[in-house]
Formats: sequence, C-alpha cells, structure tokens
Amino acid sequence: MKFITIKKHTVCVILAVLAIICSIVGVCCAVKAISSPKAQYTIVIDAGHGGRDGGAVGRVTGETESYLNLQFALKLKSICEEYGFKVVLTRKDMNGLYSAFASNKKRSEMEKRMEIIGKANADMVVSIHMNSFSNSSARGAQVFYAQEHAEFENFAQCVQDALNEKMPYAKKLAKPSDFYVINKTTLPSLLVECGFLSNAEEEKLLVNENYQEDFCYVLFYGILSYFSVK
Ligand SMILES: [Zn+2]
Repeated sequence: MKFITIKKHTVCVILAVLAIICSIVGVCCAVKAISSPKAQYTIVIDAGHGGRDGGAVGRVTGETESYLNLQFALKLKSICEEYGFKVVLTRKDMNGLYSAFASNKKRSEMEKRMEIIGKANADMVVSIHMNSFSNSSARGAQVFYAQEHAEFENFAQCVQDALNEKMPYAKKLAKPSDFYVINKTTLPSLLVECGFLSNAEEEKLLVNENYQEDFCYVLFYGILSYFSVK
C-alpha cells in the first residue's frame, strides 16, 4: 500500500464494529440487502472475458483486458479471504468459460457464469472489467449496477464512493447498465470498470501489480462499507 492510506487495521476495525452490531442486535440491521446474519459471507468475483475473447487491449503495453481482469480478481480474492469472506471465482485462469463445442460462444460463456453464480449460494457478485474508449483522454474507474435491479444502486455507490475517495479520476456516480451478468442475477451485484486501457497513463497504472493491489483494497473497503451504511 504505497499511496492509499486504507490499512488492514482500518478494515479490521470496520469488521469488528460490524461483528459487535451483529452480536448485540441479533439480526444484522447494518445490512439491508442481506437479511440474516451469517458466520461467513460468500462473494462471487467475476473476471470478465477470457479465452479467445480478450476484451479491450492496452494501446501501449498490448496487455489484454481478460488478463488484467483476472489479476484484479485474484488480488481481490486474496484480500476478501484474508478477512474471512468465502470467495467463488467464475474464471480462475485465462481459459474461456464457453463450451468448446458451442456455436454461440458468448452465450455459452454467459450461461456458464450464471451457472457458477447460481451454485455459489453467494451474498453478492462483483464483476471486474477494464474500460476502453475512442477518446484517449477518458479515464477513471466507474461502477455500474443492474438497470433491472435499481435496489442495488446503493451497493454500487458504496464502492464508487470508496474509489472516489482514493482515486482522483474516478467517476462520481454509479450508473445503471444492461451488463448481462449483473442484470441476470438477483443478488446484490455490481460491475466495476477499473480504468481505461485506451488512456496511456491509466494503462500504465492498471498493469502495475502494486496499483492493482491498492485498487483491490479500495474495492474491498467499498464492499465493507455497504455492510455498514444501513
Ligand atoms: Zn470488459
């Protein structure tokens, strides 16, 4: 953690406060969308793209979005597990999630993602992507919630707020979108575009392992804050 001041200690304090609230009240009133207290929460971390679908490509480094999504997902997984969450990944490596025999690979991939989410018995879904735009000056992390599930706008905004606090170019407001994975699940879900691979400066950050880890700590902080705002 070089430039971000969120420390593990801070996260521990938040968790400790949440645990006290849960034990005193009996029912975790701090959590609106998750109605009953649990010993362990499960989060699905969904690294977008994979296999022959590399997603966006960095203009300077040539790095693919699918690779970076996986790196961010693995780092976020480690942090979540470190603090007691159970994590289910939709994609664990660079292989695509589609069936090799499927005629419509995109559809097959999405069905597999939904199958994994459905079996995970999870409490929330966080989908990870990198952005790209024709105007190379565009940059900044943006969080989306499902337009079909406006009730989860607050989850997305909690994470957006955390990013706004620590990332100078982050967009201010979480936005609705029709991304398939978050629209098709009824769990609290969000999709985060971690930054723009079409912006040379941001691309250099996104491929940097220290930046990836710092970014994932901020994501985790935002996820935790969702537990504490209600
Ligand atoms: Zn993507």
